[in-house]
Amino acid sequence: MKSIGILGITGSIGTSTIQVMRSHPGLVRIELATSHNNSKKLFRLAEEFSIPHVVLTNQISPDSITDIPRGCTVHYGTDALDSLLKTLPLDVVFNAISGSAGMQSTLTSLEAGIDVALANKESLVMAGHLVKPLLAKTHTTLLPVDSEHSAILQAMSGRPVEEVHKLIITASGGPFRQLPLEDFSHIDLAQSLKHPTWDMGFKVTMDSATMLNKGLEIIEAHWLFDMPYSRIEAIIHPQSIIHSMVQFIDGSILAQMSKPTMQLPILYALTHPKHVAPQVTHTDFLAIKTLQFEAISTQRYPLFGLALQVAAAGGLLPTIMNAANEAAIELFRTRRIRFNDIFTLVAATVEQAANISHPDVETILTTNHDTRNFVLKNFQTLI
Ligand code: NDP
Ligand code: MG
Repeated sequence: MKSIGILGITGSIGTSTIQVMRSHPGLVRIELATSHNNSKKLFRLAEEFSIPHVVLTNQISPDSITDIPRGCTVHYGTDALDSLLKTLPLDVVFNAISGSAGMQSTLTSLEAGIDVALANKESLVMAGHLVKPLLAKTHTTLLPVDSEHSAILQAMSGRPVEEVHKLIITASGGPFRQLPLEDFSHIDLAQSLKHPTWDMGFKVTMDSATMLNKGLEIIEAHWLFDMPYSRIEAIIHPQSIIHSMVQFIDGSILAQMSKPTMQLPILYALTHPKHVAPQVTHTDFLAIKTLQFEAISTQRYPLFGLALQVAAAGGLLPTIMNAANEAAIELFRTRRIRFNDIFTLVAATVEQAANISHPDVETILTTNHDTRNFVLKNFQTLI
């Protein structure tokens, strides 16, 4: 049985992962789990799954922590997490931390020779150029948890990149696919968080509303599948039944389909290349009836257009764009800027940034931190 660490176990992906564990007992043994603040849920899960090590990554005083389950050691802070990743005998780290905070753990795990099941797309957005050589150096594997990338992995059917003409990534279109453009300036937080097909954490839900998420996923696909940007396309598919497609050089297209649930890509990341029972979702085509497709308008979703430019530039710019966006959606969440300001802030930050082509970890971490603080400080009064 594989021994795994689940980072961000209390979040949306973490919760779906736990559902997979419950429906597939004996699949893995959880050796380590983390949350940032939510000790209650972390301890409940530690008790249920007899997890020996848990980490609260935020700066929390151990004195304020009570009700620690028997047989469980609680560790505090990101340095403690880093040390555990270097010393525990883990086969797989399942990284479901949200946002830029997840990057370091992906690098530390791979450096320690541990395979990574990756939900945290920001790891590749910020440090894809560091992850790729690490995988080769440490003979580790990186398996996607993001549904689109799991779909591509499955549809590739083990064929080499040379046989692939292009990757077609699907997007639901989010809550504002049909909203008249003149109404975008009045979009509020509750509307933004009402995703039509997926129930997810705050950042990825906001990024789906602005379509930045699809830009981040194109960067993720570029690094995961060694595919040039010219051969990665994204289209809207509102039903979210086709999770992505691979078009081969002879014109044949393979799509991976199912009713949307993150349990399927999570399970596959843990069982790859096998498909195992029991089923985690049932798809009834007679009930679905239609599958639709639309182009992504960069007028409606300007952050998607910006992400394509940033992806092509590479280097430090994806980190800067992502950090500016994390700060901007935080300002939107606390009602200090409007929905349309998210793009304005991110574009202005990217515009005035100096790029570096092959940044090291320290530069990425410092830039991420400084960009976030710059946006939070300088743009908080736009309403
Ligand atoms: P959530 O916000 O629901 O959960 C985030 C998890 O990370 C929680 O356990 C949280 O702990 C922890 N966390 C939050 N901030 C930090 C931090 N600064 N340092 C360490 N840990 C932290 O996120 P999701 O589960 O939605 O997303 C996780 C990742 O998976 C993202 O990168 C997202 O893009 C990706 N993803 C998500 C999908 C989904 O369906 N949700 C689909 C595809 C990809 P606490 O609970 O204590 O705050
Ligand atoms: Mg996705």
